[in-house]
Amino acid sequence: MKKKILITGASGFLGSHLCDRMIDEGMAVIGMDNLITGDLANIEHHFSNENFSFYHHDVSKFVHVPGELDYILHFASPASPIDYLKMPIQTLKVGSLGTHNLLGLARVKNARMLIASTSEVYGDPLVNPQPEEYWGNVNPIGPRGVYDEAKRFQEAMTMAYHNYHGVDTRIIRIFNTFGPRMRVNDGRALPAFFSQAIRGEEVTVFGDGSQTRSFCYVDDLVEGVFKLLMSEYTLPINIGNPDEISILDVAEEVMAIVNNPDAKIIFKGLPKDDPKVRRPDITKAKTLLDWNPKVVRSEGLQLTYEYFLKKLN
Ligand code: UDP
Repeated sequence: MKKKILITGASGFLGSHLCDRMIDEGMAVIGMDNLITGDLANIEHHFSNENFSFYHHDVSKFVHVPGELDYILHFASPASPIDYLKMPIQTLKVGSLGTHNLLGLARVKNARMLIASTSEVYGDPLVNPQPEEYWGNVNPIGPRGVYDEAKRFQEAMTMAYHNYHGVDTRIIRIFNTFGPRMRVNDGRALPAFFSQAIRGEEVTVFGDGSQTRSFCYVDDLVEGVFKLLMSEYTLPINIGNPDEISILDVAEEVMAIVNNPDAKIIFKGLPKDDPKVRRPDITKAKTLLDWNPKVVRSEGLQLTYEYFLKKLN
C-alpha cells in the first residue's frame, strides 16, 4: 500500500517542491491550497498522475480528507513580508485555526504531522547564530507579528497535541530559502533583486544593506523536511544554510550574475522590525538528522536566475 500524504500550501513555492519529492518517494499525494498566494502552474505537471489529487480549500476552515492518511505537511501560509502585511488576518488564521484543524485531522487519522515553522519565531534575534533553545525577540504587535505570533502559536499548539493527545508531530524552523517557483512579485529579496536586475530597473536594497540573512537552496530544504519527517525527533529543529551574507552583498552577487548594465542599486527605507541578523545554528540537524546543506549559494543563485529569466520572457 502506498503511503498517503496531505500537503497544505501545495501550489506554493515550498509546497510544490514537496509534492514533487513525495511523488518521487512513491507516495500518494493530496495537495490542498486556497490559491491566495499559490500558483497552480507549480503543480500542473502532476494533474494527470493518478497518485496526485488536489483540493481547492482553505485549511482555516474544517478540513476533511476521505480514507486513511499517513502524513500531513502543513506548509500553507502567506510567507513574504508584503503578503502578510496585505493579509494579516488570513496569516493569523492559517497558522492558528488551520494548524488546529490539521492537528485534529492528524489525531483522527493517526497520521504523523510536520508543521512548517520559521526563523521568524526568533524575531529580531539578540543572539547569532540562533540555536533552537533561543526563545526569540518578537514584537507581537509589529507588522511582522501576525506571521511570527501565528507561527509561535502553531508550535505551542503542536506541542500541546503531541504532549496531551499523543499526536505524532514534527516541527521544522525554516530559514530563508530560495529557488525556482518563488513568485516574481512576492517582495522578498531574491525575487525582487532578480526581477529588477533582469528588467534593468533599480535594485531596491532596504536600509544600508548591512542586515544579514543566510540563504538555503530549496533542494536542501526539501531533503531536510524529508529527513525530519522520517526521523523520531519531535522537538523544533532549524533547517537552513549557515552561510551568512549581508543583503547588499547578495544584491551585488545577483547583479553580477544577471550582468545588465541598466540595473543600479538604490537604497530605500528599512521596514519596521526588519531583523538585523539571521543565521541558523544547525548542529541539531547535522547530528540528529545527518543533514547538511549541499548547494552553495553561487550554484543556487545561477539556477534561480535561469528560472526567473524564463518567467520574465
Ligand atoms: N530586502 C531588500 N530589498 C527588497 C526586499 C527585501 O533589501 O526589495 C531586504 C529586507 O529588508 C530584509 C532582507 O532583504 O532585510 C530579506 O528580506 P525578505 O523579504 O526576503 O525576507 P525576510 O528574511 O526579511 O523575511
